[in-house]
Amino acid sequence: MKEGKHLINGSWVASQDNDTLDVVSPSDGLVFAKIARGKAGDVDLAVKAAQNALDNGAWRKCAAVDRGRLLSKLGTKILDNFDELADLEALDTGKPLKQAKADITAAGRYFEYYGGAADKVHGDTIPFMDGYMVSILREPHGVTGHIIPWNYPAQMYGRSLAPALAMGNAVVLKPAEDACMTSLRMSELAQEVGFPEGAINVVTGVGEEAGASLSAHPGINFLSFTGSPEVGTIVQCAAAKNHVGCVLELGGKSPQIIFDDADIAAALPVIVNAIVQNGGQTCSAGSRLMIQSTVYENYLDQIAEKFNELKVGSHSMDLDCGPLISAVQKNRVEGFLDRARSEGIAVVAQGSMGPGLPSGGFYVTPTLFAGVPRDNELACDEVFGPVLSALSFDDEQDAIKLANSTDYGLVTGVWTKDGARQMRMAKSVRAGQIYINGYGAGGGIELPFGGVKKSGHGREKGFEALYEFCATKTIVFKHD
Ligand code: NAD
Repeated sequence: MKEGKHLINGSWVASQDNDTLDVVSPSDGLVFAKIARGKAGDVDLAVKAAQNALDNGAWRKCAAVDRGRLLSKLGTKILDNFDELADLEALDTGKPLKQAKADITAAGRYFEYYGGAADKVHGDTIPFMDGYMVSILREPHGVTGHIIPWNYPAQMYGRSLAPALAMGNAVVLKPAEDACMTSLRMSELAQEVGFPEGAINVVTGVGEEAGASLSAHPGINFLSFTGSPEVGTIVQCAAAKNHVGCVLELGGKSPQIIFDDADIAAALPVIVNAIVQNGGQTCSAGSRLMIQSTVYENYLDQIAEKFNELKVGSHSMDLDCGPLISAVQKNRVEGFLDRARSEGIAVVAQGSMGPGLPSGGFYVTPTLFAGVPRDNELACDEVFGPVLSALSFDDEQDAIKLANSTDYGLVTGVWTKDGARQMRMAKSVRAGQIYINGYGAGGGIELPFGGVKKSGHGREKGFEALYEFCATKTIVFKHD
């Protein structure tokens, strides 16, 4: 792989000032690679390369069907290089290898899905006054900027870039400094399958430098951001100054709501997985466990039993939970744990560390808290670690009130056999996705995904993402 380089205009180049960053494996805290530390000048070159691809390059002439073929080829190429990419993703993020494999499968599927969709987004005609014909075209925005996080880097690469490319935009990606190796490798594969120069540009670096430069660049016509609400606000302000739109996906505090008629045996593994998947570093993690008071103790005991079985290990040990992404994130999560304990919130279950963990890794024990007060930070704020907070509710109205009581609204799981209640809950809870008797943590590639309130706005995945990455143009023909 082209270590320490950006991809700009089809070439791998060092930063203008040759600056680099170390890449650390979360499993042992050791440096295993270097990436380029891009700044404003590097971002400027990448944006200009993307604009040039649209104005003069082969990308401008690439018909929808051919864009689709390129995307599909990249999807296949990703799967052809499956083991290499999964190993790299696991090493770079610390996630268990089985999770990394699932992520590479999803990354390939994004390109397959949007490859098939590229020539199926049609415009429209509108009946208008006599003597007129009106066409609605769907056009790419132009140059789109993509800032993605470290939790699912390979998936985010596909989720953000594939629909933008399918619609004919030229993209500039700023992956997260903590995990960007598969973004670089997949971009190399994109070159191999024939994406023309300038269609895909990647500038690595830190958020305050390369990320801020990208979101504020006047040559960007649309922005897609996934990450923290704080940075999302910065990105949206930058977009507003340039009068361009943006999609923001900013995380959540998603409830898993268990009524007393739930099939608890079916729910148990799903409930636990929804919080420990990817070490809880999932925007759509089911981090608030809401159990009806009539069955609270009974169901909590069963969940605690499962929680106590969880094992933490390095990416290659491939256990239930890997390390967190960085020392910063570990400290942040441990801060939540320490404050909760000091406030007397009960720990009812904990996983354990696997044998022989490498020293220097960023490991945190999965923890289940019970009786969490409704206004406590554990019940309201995104921890982004393997921490599940149990609360009780009385009845359906109380469940709706509690579910809607945080600033977030990304995903909700509801467990009940009562069909009418399923409908009422689905309609009453404010979230971008609702799962009935299940929990998808973001769900499949085909399913529109995104939030309300502090979870962000706009939709990714499914056909909705294609509509985000284009704008309509109304053409009015007057004829005799
Ligand atoms: P972050 O928002 O700081 O980083 C996400 C991306 O934004 C990275 O690529 C980063 O380089 C970039 N960035 C950072 N500062 C920027 C700036 N000023 N301008 C433009 N881009 C900038 O997220 P983080 O530090 O990686 O994680 C912090 C918290 O964010 C987590 O604890 C979690 O709560 C949340 N988070 C949410 C998601 C999600 O999927 N919704 C993903 C990662 C993190």
